[in-house]
Amino acid sequence: MALKTAKEYIDSLRQLKTRVYMFGEKIDNWVDHPMIRPSINCVAMTYALAQEPEYEDLMTATSSLTGHKINRFTHLHQSTEDLIKKVKMQRLLGQKTASCFQRCVGMDAFNAVFSSTYEIDQAHGTHYHENFKKFLTYVQDNDLTVDGAMTDPKGDRSKAPHQQADPDMYVHVVERRPDGIVVCGAKCHQTGSVNSHWHIFMPTISMGPEDKDWAVSFACPTDAEGLYMIYGRQSCDTRKMEQGCHIDVGNAKFGGQEALVVLDHVFIPNEYIFLNGETEFAGMIVERFAGYHRQSYGGCKVGVGDVVIGAAALAAEYNGVEKASAVKDKLIEMTHLNETLYSCGIACSCEGCPTKAGNYQIDLLLANVCKQNVTRFPYEIVRLAEDIAGGLMVTMPSQKDFESDLPVGREGETIGEICQKYFAGREGVSTEDRQRVMRFLENMCLGAAAVGYRTESMHGAGSPQAQRIMIARQGNIQGKKQLAKDIAGIKD
Ligand code: SF4
Ligand code: FE
Repeated sequence: MALKTAKEYIDSLRQLKTRVYMFGEKIDNWVDHPMIRPSINCVAMTYALAQEPEYEDLMTATSSLTGHKINRFTHLHQSTEDLIKKVKMQRLLGQKTASCFQRCVGMDAFNAVFSSTYEIDQAHGTHYHENFKKFLTYVQDNDLTVDGAMTDPKGDRSKAPHQQADPDMYVHVVERRPDGIVVCGAKCHQTGSVNSHWHIFMPTISMGPEDKDWAVSFACPTDAEGLYMIYGRQSCDTRKMEQGCHIDVGNAKFGGQEALVVLDHVFIPNEYIFLNGETEFAGMIVERFAGYHRQSYGGCKVGVGDVVIGAAALAAEYNGVEKASAVKDKLIEMTHLNETLYSCGIACSCEGCPTKAGNYQIDLLLANVCKQNVTRFPYEIVRLAEDIAGGLMVTMPSQKDFESDLPVGREGETIGEICQKYFAGREGVSTEDRQRVMRFLENMCLGAAAVGYRTESMHGAGSPQAQRIMIARQGNIQGKKQLAKDIAGIKD
């Protein structure tokens, strides 16, 4: 089957019976809901760009399973070149949407589960790898969006899954049947879950022998019986529902999406199971998925950073200060930080290596260094953007005021005219353009888009401490001590 167009993707969502709840109500036409639609537009860009000859090399690949041309978001990386192209593709999409385009979690899950199931089968004689290949072939052939669902609610963090007072704090098997399993639990802050055709569920931590029922991975259609989602709020999200306020939204076209995904006794047929009780492999799936997603941030957040830097430069220009050396230096600093993130994304890709199953994995140490930097640099980039923009980005009246014809002045000047007069910047620049760039920066720095650019940079793909644990594990301090001993002439 051919690659889907953006329209075909959006239409395909309408065919699903996905259960979505928001503000305490069931949302029936969620595809056209003003708070959800920008996030759908964002995923749709992953389809739209794949249709453009200019981006064909980055956005598409040849399937290792079928030999067909597929969207790179469904690809198993076959080389370090593929890993590099992945990062470049993500930077491109970040530039085009200034948002989280959501489809990467599925791509990262495909690559982690593909290699892990191969090794689980080798150890246990199971058939998970064949199950997975069949599933992924279906995904590639139909150009589907799949959510990679990892993060469980976790309840009491000091306790293992089997020790939790409520066993649903981690997704688990509640019934084993000859034809499959029944699962319960939930996954928190799931990126793009509502906009996905299918989900791949994976464990979220390493597990011990007593966690057998919790060591489970499987694929499941988004509209499966018993599965539903409760949509996550974002700062200033209801601006998207106000009429005639598109400028106030900042980025009215695109946005990210997170939701709580609940599995209430969902039946999973055997053919969609990729892990079922082999507890010692839970950690492998987590580590590999996290590694790929930490690489991903060296692409997507950089692309979004490009737009933030561009907006800050525009704000400076509209304020008439673009030639000030202090402003120029801040833009240099922002660029330096952003390109450092990109360098890490590219580096961990260049240093990638094949897994036993044959697909390519990133260098885990460098991917974790990449994500560790991502927990810091976007914060500094938005700090500098706010510095350059000035307070106006958070104090400006609404779009409705700018457009109001209510007379308020002595001479009958309208609210709109007063706003136009006092919020004018440099001559030759329309006040509306200034308004637009300020609202865009507000959105990126502390509005709905800050979910994707700030807090997601901190906690997405694992919080900073998770990377530090991996850096400690991969950092080879013993080897480094030996280097020092050799040169300093220290003998054991
Ligand atoms: Fe993709 Fe970045 Fe969103 Fe993760 S945070 S899904 S890598 S765009
Ligand atoms: Fe993310």
